[in-house]
Amino acid sequence: MAKWFAKRPWTVPADRPVISFTFDDFPRSALTQGGAMLEQHGLAATYYSSFGLMGRTIETGLIFNQNDIPRLFRGGHELGCHTYDHCPAWETPPADYLASVHRNAAALAALAGERGFETHSYPISYPRPATKRGLGRIFSGCRFGGQVRNTGIVDLNCLASFFLEQCGENIGSVERIIGETVDSGGWLIFSTHDVEQAPTRYGCTPVFFERVVACAVRSGAAILPVSQALTAFGTSR
Ligand SMILES: [Zn+2]
Repeated sequence: MAKWFAKRPWTVPADRPVISFTFDDFPRSALTQGGAMLEQHGLAATYYSSFGLMGRTIETGLIFNQNDIPRLFRGGHELGCHTYDHCPAWETPPADYLASVHRNAAALAALAGERGFETHSYPISYPRPATKRGLGRIFSGCRFGGQVRNTGIVDLNCLASFFLEQCGENIGSVERIIGETVDSGGWLIFSTHDVEQAPTRYGCTPVFFERVVACAVRSGAAILPVSQALTAFGTSR
């Protein structure tokens, strides 16, 4: 039901392939390892943060701290919203979810002044229609999962992403979906959590992440953070 209601339909341009890298939560290693690799290629990612998790160690590893925020902006990366409390999207009443989004924005404002969040990713579960509708008024785009690329008519309130940890570090499946994106167009959004030598079950190894980045670079697709991709596509508000 949530899939069909509160949609913000948008047709992805078929003639210019775009790839985005995103990290949820975000564990420190996503920036120190994953971000550093992207920066070496002159690229940047989107980091979906829950300020309520700051400095804590959770299932996805050691989460960012306050000092990582200026480092992230210096690298040209985007900081996105993932709710303050890491609210499971389906299980959280929409009013509580919205309150947690506003609290996250207030936490960012306290640290980084006028910088605000432009895009969002839903924690854990599929969003409720009322949550999607509320967020559609705040963010230029909201991301979930689904292991597919965005092609044809998609929902800006629930963009698809391909979680790297769900492919078992099978580079073939990554090459395939990048190939499809380049051949027939669309927007491929990768997502993951930590990037560690011994990753959590929600993350990947630096060696695998580097192979994914190298494959994306070789493909010739434009590689942009989510908000910049939306601007390049002409959809951002
Ligand atoms: Zn999360």
